[in-house]
Amino acid sequence: MKKVFIFLGPPGSGKGTQTSRLSDKLSIPHIDTGSLLRKNIEDKTQLGIIAKGFIDKGQLVPLHVVSSVIKERLLKEDCKNGYILDGFPRSIEQAEALASILEETGEFTLKNDAMAVYFDVDTEILVQRLINRRSCPNCGTIYNLTSNPPKIMDYCDICDTKLVQRADDNEQTARARFETYERETKPLYDYFKQLGILKELDADKPILEIWENLKELIFEQ
Ligand code: AMP
Repeated sequence: MKKVFIFLGPPGSGKGTQTSRLSDKLSIPHIDTGSLLRKNIEDKTQLGIIAKGFIDKGQLVPLHVVSSVIKERLLKEDCKNGYILDGFPRSIEQAEALASILEETGEFTLKNDAMAVYFDVDTEILVQRLINRRSCPNCGTIYNLTSNPPKIMDYCDICDTKLVQRADDNEQTARARFETYERETKPLYDYFKQLGILKELDADKPILEIWENLKELIFEQ
């Protein structure tokens, strides 16, 4: 089975939800550059200070910042058996940076060990999904106020913590993030296809159905 999974798709396409499930199922880490960057912002690191301005505008954080954050993470012991990348790479230059990092660490190669899963979903639906997204700051569970609401409004079903909305899930920043996605990230579809590692997933379906289809893609190969 492949060891490196790259989840590719527009913001709000459900990558995070499926990554968490797959991470539990395969016992490999879920690496999400958005969360790593937000942690740097919270900790007020030098990288976090640079990242904040870009995140607030819905733009991509510069390559040197993201590469540094991701490289540090991939060198950790728990990545030895594989990992799921969610939100990285997000441009061709980041995919090339990933190939170099893999070459340096010598564990895996994109061509032989990676599978890119493209979450295909109508982007118009997604702006609404993003605006309605809430998450638990304690256990990380993700909800959607319309399609997957918590049992008690605004409180986590699992740990009863008050849910939060990400600062960049407002409409203006959400729209900017889609423009960035179309311009910078979408070209990765052809890039991974040419490399022969692309699989497509219809992500315009209920969560459980997407999960079943994802498992088929992963375990069938
Ligand atoms: P996400 O949590 O994946 O939606 O990411 C939130 C924001 O973090 C994005 O809109 C970007 O500003 C930034 N970000 C996350 N991952 C990357 C990446 N691979 N490259 C550049 N910026 C990123």
